[in-house]
Amino acid sequence: MIRLIDLHTHTIFSDGELIPSELVRRAVIHGYKAIALTDHADYTNLEQLIEAGQKAKYLESEWDIRVLAGVELTHVPPRKIAPLAKKAKELGAEIVVVHGRPPPSQSPPEQMQHLLPVNMWTSWPTRA
Ligand SMILES: [Zn+2]
Repeated sequence: MIRLIDLHTHTIFSDGELIPSELVRRAVIHGYKAIALTDHADYTNLEQLIEAGQKAKYLESEWDIRVLAGVELTHVPPRKIAPLAKKAKELGAEIVVVHGRPPPSQSPPEQMQHLLPVNMWTSWPTRA
């Protein structure tokens, strides 16, 4: 049996078109067993997005799907990504993804790269 999951989605809280309940419902209809709500986040909206994702978990009791509260750190200055990802996890984010390739001149110092998520600087989501 194939189990579909999507660990990178957006709602109207960033550049998606649906509110979380609509997005989760459509995922259920299409056979998904898990979905992560990962709207674009920075220091200005991190708390609200994680809180919204956690609230959306009520849908798990109604439909056969796992809902993960997450964020996609977007256009966050490279040196701020690791501390913001840590803060997101402390606030309860179950998944943190990163969007945006920095120009080479803004890449993090080599000594910081081991602290960052695997392949963050070499592989990128295929969707914006
Ligand atoms: Zn995205």
